[in-house]
Amino acid sequence: MILTPVNEALNQILNHASLQPARPSLELPLQQALGHILASPINTRIDVPPWDNSAMDGYALRSADLAAGATLPIAQRITAGLSPAPLSPGTCARIFTGAPIPAGADAVEMQENVEIDARGNAHFLQPVSSGQNVRPQGQDLHQGQTLFTGGRRLLPQDLGVIASCGIDRVSVAQPLRIGVVSTGDELLEPGSALAPGKIYNSNRFTLFGLLTQLGQEVIDGGILADDPDLIRQQLQQLGNTCDLIISSGGVSVGEADYLGQILRENGQLTLWKLAIKPGKPFTLGQIDSTPVLGLPGNPAAVLVTFLLLVKPWLLRRLGASDYLPTALPMPAGFVWNKAGKRDEYARALLHQGRLQLSGHQSSGILSSASQASGLVVLPAGVEVKPGDLLDYLPFTGLLS
Ligand code: AMP
Ligand code: MG
Repeated sequence: MILTPVNEALNQILNHASLQPARPSLELPLQQALGHILASPINTRIDVPPWDNSAMDGYALRSADLAAGATLPIAQRITAGLSPAPLSPGTCARIFTGAPIPAGADAVEMQENVEIDARGNAHFLQPVSSGQNVRPQGQDLHQGQTLFTGGRRLLPQDLGVIASCGIDRVSVAQPLRIGVVSTGDELLEPGSALAPGKIYNSNRFTLFGLLTQLGQEVIDGGILADDPDLIRQQLQQLGNTCDLIISSGGVSVGEADYLGQILRENGQLTLWKLAIKPGKPFTLGQIDSTPVLGLPGNPAAVLVTFLLLVKPWLLRRLGASDYLPTALPMPAGFVWNKAGKRDEYARALLHQGRLQLSGHQSSGILSSASQASGLVVLPAGVEVKPGDLLDYLPFTGLLS
């Protein structure tokens, strides 16, 4: 059996995503744009901050005036939000953090270094240099500057940066409508009574969570019985209204694994045996003209193949410039002698700076993924001893 390296499949998957037809973008109020992918660049039409302002509560002055004498009358009081009159030579202004610097002033002395004498004048205890405690106009952003290029997935602080420029609407990639189906005669939906030989459909919920977290619209395609005619009908119907179908199960080479056959006859099929554990069987195909990503049935394999292969397809399809997971080198806190033929993406817990395996690693076991803080890559053919640096993929990155 020839196993396909994960990266080879990933390249084909990314290529497939990039060849999908362009979709119209969506204009959203900034408040709803978190996590969305910018469809076009954003430029600022103003400087931020828009005017010189004070970094301190204190006194604004012309720094040169201090050479003549260290006491100046207080000519005005400037709080944040005011538009101050110019500062007359030989005077100073009471000023507060964020308030505009009056024309003519070039420095602010903090109030701790100023004493107010009996006549109400400000006595400066130290020399003041030009520019001191002044936040200059445009220090953060310059008019015309590109804040973000298209493809940026918006973080909370990005929303703040965009808002600081006075912009309240952004153009983002339209979320995809994604049909999710689970194949298998053994599946029951949770909430119904368990019956002999049956198990509950967990993949549907894992996939729902993964897709919702990515801001995509999930269309529930239900359970597909192991019946080729039914599977074909349901897939074709779902394909009519969806941009993508994600399935789990039925892509091995068992007698009841019909998905491959249906895609081959009614669309397109690339079926891989991936050099990855968990998650060997993986399908990239099409039902009529709708893309289908066929995941294995085992619950841990669903999680891992989604994160390594489906998420990059989605992000690439949506035009994101960052679509690959970030691995961090972390020291192993365990011994691993079972070097296999496939790269293993083990569920792992980062504890006190060392990685531990988080329980049972079988592809049918999902609870160890809930105990884990991420995945650790155990490369094919490599044994691991404590202290060895391994690629760690934290869930904080994988699941965002
Ligand atoms: P399959 O790929 O269809 O051969 O399924 C592989 C294993 O995953 C079998 O033990 C199935 O019972 C199990 N499985 C398939 N689909 C699901 C699902 N939606 N939820 C939980 N387990 C599943
Ligand atoms: Mg099955």
